[in-house]
Amino acid sequence: MGAKVLIREAAYPVEDAVVGDLLDEFAPSLDGRTVLVKPNCLMAAEPEQAVTTHPSLVRSLVASLRRRGAKVMVGDNPGARGYGAGEHCFRATGLLDAAGDAFVDLGRNTVRVGIRSEFVDEVVVSRHVLDADFVISVPKLKTHCLTLLTGAVKNMYGILAGGEKVKLHSLARGRKDFAAALVDVYSLRPPDLALTDAVVAMEGNGPSHGSPRAVGRILASDDPVAADAAAARIMGVEPGRIDHLAIAAARGLGSLEKIVFDGNVSPVDGFSLPSMFRLGLMTFLSNRLVFNLLRRSRIQVEKGECVGCDECRQACPAGAMVESGGHYTVRQELCHQCFCCYELCPEGAIKVRGALGALLEKREKV
Ligand code: SF4
Ligand code: SF4
Repeated sequence: MGAKVLIREAAYPVEDAVVGDLLDEFAPSLDGRTVLVKPNCLMAAEPEQAVTTHPSLVRSLVASLRRRGAKVMVGDNPGARGYGAGEHCFRATGLLDAAGDAFVDLGRNTVRVGIRSEFVDEVVVSRHVLDADFVISVPKLKTHCLTLLTGAVKNMYGILAGGEKVKLHSLARGRKDFAAALVDVYSLRPPDLALTDAVVAMEGNGPSHGSPRAVGRILASDDPVAADAAAARIMGVEPGRIDHLAIAAARGLGSLEKIVFDGNVSPVDGFSLPSMFRLGLMTFLSNRLVFNLLRRSRIQVEKGECVGCDECRQACPAGAMVESGGHYTVRQELCHQCFCCYELCPEGAIKVRGALGALLEKREKV
C-alpha cells in the first residue's frame, strides 16, 4: 500500500481530540522518547496573519505528546528578520506561550555537519533536530513565490541556523537549484511525521505577503512528501509540478504516487497562487542582497562597553567568541553569523559592522 494522508476538518483553537486521533494513527510509542516539534516561525507575526503555524495546534500537540510520555521540545530558526531572535519571534507569534517550558531556541545550540549537495560541503544545523528521537514538521500551508508551496518538506529548511539559510539560497540560485538544495537539507533529517496547519492557510504572495484563506483542515502523514501532495491538491496544484516534491520523491524520500487520501482533499475554489516569475525574481534578488550584506558584515565586540560577563562566549554555538585578559573578541573564521551573541549581550557591546548593522539597529530588540 502507498502512503496515507489523513485530512481532518478543524477550527481554531485546534482541539486536543483532533491532534490525539492523528497521533494515534501515525505515532509509535513515544514514552520516554525525545520529540522535537518544528513549527514554521518565519518571523514575528500575529497568528491572524497566517504567516506562522497557529499556536493552538502546537499547544494541543505538546499536551497530546506529553500524555504519551514524550519529552517534548518546540523550536525553529526564524528567517532573516529574526536571526538570533528565536524567543522574540516565538513570543510575538503566540508560539512561546503555546510551547511553554518545551520551547528551545534552536539557534543557540548548533553543529556543523557534512551534507551531500552540489552547492556546499557542510552546513550549520540545530543540534536538537539531529538528536531528537522523533521529529514532527508542523508547517502552515502557504504559497511560496519561489517554491510555490511551503509545507512539511520546505519547513525543514529551518533546521539551518542563522545566516546559513540565506547563504545556501544564494548559492543555489535558480528555482530548480534551490529545490535541490532544499531536499539536500531535508535529507539530513527527514521528519517522522507531518502535521500541517491548513485551518487558515496563506494564498497569494506567500510566504509572508499573502492573504489568509480559510480552508478548515489539518493534514497528517508519516510521509511528509505525501502530506505536501495533499496540500498541493488543496491549493489546486498538481503535486508533481512542485520541484522539491518531485526531487524528494525521485530520491526515495517520500511518495507522490499511490497515495491514499483519507478525507477531503478537494481544491479550495479560486485559491490564489503567486506570480512565480515576478516574485521568484524578487526573492532571488532579496536573498542576494541579504547574502551580500552578510558577507560584508562582521560581528565585533566594543571593548569599552563589555563588562566581561562571559554570556556571549557561553552561548556561541561555534566557539567563535574568545576571552583573553578580560577582553572578548570574535574569531571571524569560525563565526557563522547566527547573531545569538548580538541579541543576548546585556550591555549591547556586540556590534554588527557594515551595512547589515544599520538595518539590525532598527530592528526591535528582544
Ligand atoms: S555578553 Fe557582552 S558584556 Fe558580556 S562578555 Fe560578551 S560582549 Fe561582554
Ligand atoms: S560569534 Fe558568531 S557564531 Fe558566535 S554567537 Fe556571535 S554571531 Fe553566532
